[in-house]
Amino acid sequence: HRNPAAADSPFPHLEGRHPCFSLTPEGHSQAARLHLPVSPACNITCRFCHRAFNDTDHRPGVARALVSPDQAVDVVRRALDLCPSLAVVGIAGPGDTLCTDHALRAFTAIHTAFPDLINCLSTNGLRLAEKAEAIVAAGIKTVTVTVNAVDPTIEAAISPTITYRGQRLTGTAAAARLILNQIEGIRRITALGGVVKVNTVLIPGLNDSHVEAVARTVAAAGAAMINLIPLLPAFDFADRPAPSAAQLAKAQAAAGAHLTVFSHCHRCRADACGIPGQSDVSAVLYGDTGVNS
Ligand code: SF4
Ligand code: SF4
Repeated sequence: HRNPAAADSPFPHLEGRHPCFSLTPEGHSQAARLHLPVSPACNITCRFCHRAFNDTDHRPGVARALVSPDQAVDVVRRALDLCPSLAVVGIAGPGDTLCTDHALRAFTAIHTAFPDLINCLSTNGLRLAEKAEAIVAAGIKTVTVTVNAVDPTIEAAISPTITYRGQRLTGTAAAARLILNQIEGIRRITALGGVVKVNTVLIPGLNDSHVEAVARTVAAAGAAMINLIPLLPAFDFADRPAPSAAQLAKAQAAAGAHLTVFSHCHRCRADACGIPGQSDVSAVLYGDTGVNS
């Protein structure tokens, strides 16, 4: 996979400031990001999802413990002491960031206390459109939306249920609602000046031949980058194979016809702190804050 130059970036203002919205190897390793695990619950069910609280697993959805929105500013202050290059505060779980109001409350407080930090939110997108104004008002400049399919039949095989406005929907009805909301959410965030990256979990046999359609659709809605995350087989999908390097490369090439491809994701924990793939001070950070379980 080619390594793009900084000059190619669709978002040059983030190069070197946000490790996951930078295109060059130097840009990836200049600034640190903190993940604050403030979001406890989720409103959809992904069949690969395995959330847990521990200090050993290295994957998304895992944190030592939950941080409350009221603790957020204090944790960021300590993280800045430990990690002077900290430029980004992200919330990526352990559940969905828009299922509860915890993430937006935390970001609002952080934006008031540290207006120069970039706030970064990761979501399944079910409530992205309805929250778009509040997201931008909370200082969130970058949004990652996980879109695993834009065909309801494929999506329903990956995430079979959603809970939306108090109603539980299943199958293709649930999937169609989720996809509509994701696309509308991407449109609204980009119209408000936010930069959107799409994460797609690459699941051989389910969506590997569909990645180009995902990339084309989210690009038309305004997304600027796509990150294909190889499936970590777990939970209902524990017996499915992870994609091979060749399958990943093929999918990246297909997606690359429509979008810049981000190809150095480290599938970080929901409480990581440091430069992705290089340093992690989260054990010290969360140990010190008294939120370690
Ligand atoms: Fe898990 Fe995220 Fe899917 Fe929710 S949206 S079930 S937290 S992977
Ligand atoms: Fe960046 Fe990937 Fe880690 Fe998210 S999981 S912080 S996109 S490297």
